[in-house]
Amino acid sequence: MPNLKFFSGENIPLEMHKVRMVQKINLQPVEKRLESMRAAGFNTFLLKNQDIFLDMLTDSGVNAMSEKQYAAMLEADDSYAGSETYYRLENVLTDIFGMKHFLPAHQGRACEHIISQILVKPQTFALMNYHFTTTKAHITRMGGAIEELISDEGFKIQSTNLFKGNMDIDKLNAAIKQHGKEKICFVRIEAGTNLIGGQPVSMKNLREVSKICRAEGIKLVYDASLLTDNLYFIKIREPEYKNTEVKEIVREIGSLVDIIYFSARKLGAARGGGILTSDNEIFHKMRELIPLFEGFLTYGGMSVREMEAMAVGLQESMDFDVISQTPIFVEALCNELLAKNIPVVTPPGGLGCHVDAKQFCSHLPQAQYPSGALASAMFIAGGIRGMERGTLSEQRNADGTERFADMELLRLAFPKRVFTLSQVKYIADRIIWLYQNRSLIGGLKFVEEPKVLRFFFGRLEPIGNWPEQLVKKFREDFGDSL
Ligand SMILES: *Cc1c(COP(=O)(O)O)cnc(C)c1O
Repeated sequence: MPNLKFFSGENIPLEMHKVRMVQKINLQPVEKRLESMRAAGFNTFLLKNQDIFLDMLTDSGVNAMSEKQYAAMLEADDSYAGSETYYRLENVLTDIFGMKHFLPAHQGRACEHIISQILVKPQTFALMNYHFTTTKAHITRMGGAIEELISDEGFKIQSTNLFKGNMDIDKLNAAIKQHGKEKICFVRIEAGTNLIGGQPVSMKNLREVSKICRAEGIKLVYDASLLTDNLYFIKIREPEYKNTEVKEIVREIGSLVDIIYFSARKLGAARGGGILTSDNEIFHKMRELIPLFEGFLTYGGMSVREMEAMAVGLQESMDFDVISQTPIFVEALCNELLAKNIPVVTPPGGLGCHVDAKQFCSHLPQAQYPSGALASAMFIAGGIRGMERGTLSEQRNADGTERFADMELLRLAFPKRVFTLSQVKYIADRIIWLYQNRSLIGGLKFVEEPKVLRFFFGRLEPIGNWPEQLVKKFREDFGDSL
């Protein structure tokens, strides 16, 4: 938060909003939580919302909306073609990013589908700071390959580097030299690098990458899904931008890249997505695909109500108070855990708190999915649903062998402006208990394993009866408490 100090000297995250609508949540007894986890095949994606106490699976489509967003939804103009809502949204987006053209798409991966169809050719390389699951799937589906050029620091769990999402400029130059620029379909920078712990990219880095791409004539694509957290970190951690308006930073980003796309399930706190560009040729090619895969050009598969909410949400995302909320709550949880020597990704990023399952469950081999096991144990311990971001989220190699992830993380995402500080305290309390009993956590194995994006639907079972042991220990320590 800007300019707010507590007299006590404590560093307390402060909600810069008030809660005016609430949803009841249920905390089931630990035995029932184990039952739910078993029914879900030890895959947190398959849990039912009514069985979950605090849902930290994702920030996708679950962010709190403002009263102004709800009000705007009532004004939505429902027409197949030429909807007023579309023009309002187009105006907001082209104004915020300073780009000429906007194309609507129903969510982030739909944007990736359209962009990959146009830009990715077989045997070409998409160079990026780091991949996102759906991004990689769309590029490889078109016969391309991805190459990750994140700085080595990005892979370190504990670091003091403030911009761990940065692309390594030497690696970028080397990759262009090695493949030849004609073999590079595009360079992609992902804001708030999702899979390495919501880590930001600096403006300095983006400027350098942009300069190289422009000099070589390579298209630069910017994934803005996690833009708001990244903007917060630019203001807080990049001194040059301390006094720059959020909106001005966004304009500068727009001026440095060729294509911007985003999931509005995250950016703009609604549900949808969009692509922006000032490149006429690419725009016309992509535009042809929208009616084919998404819907007519003035809605692109989205509900007009969501489009209205998105337009307002995007404008509200230019407010520093609004975008500070996730990072300060993530930091608060990380600090509580670090105080107990629990391994989490540092510096705290956006998106959520990322627990290092490799260290937390150092007794489990990667082949037994330590982060998946930790996600299951977390749910049993506290009704808290996180997401596995490790080997389970990878796809097997072509020869069927496991592709071990660089990092084994349990991601505890913070839906924007949803949780209160007391809930954060509860989360910390249960993680601390679990850490003290970590030797009880055992591995998992697949019983049903889909070939593509297996983490969504795959079903697993525990190796041994460790979940029962965990429940038994919970009862010993907590008595008849929930
Ligand atoms: C969520 C996400 C996507 C995909 O967006 P969906 O709306 O879920 O399809 C792409 N990139 C990043 C960085 C994301 O976080």
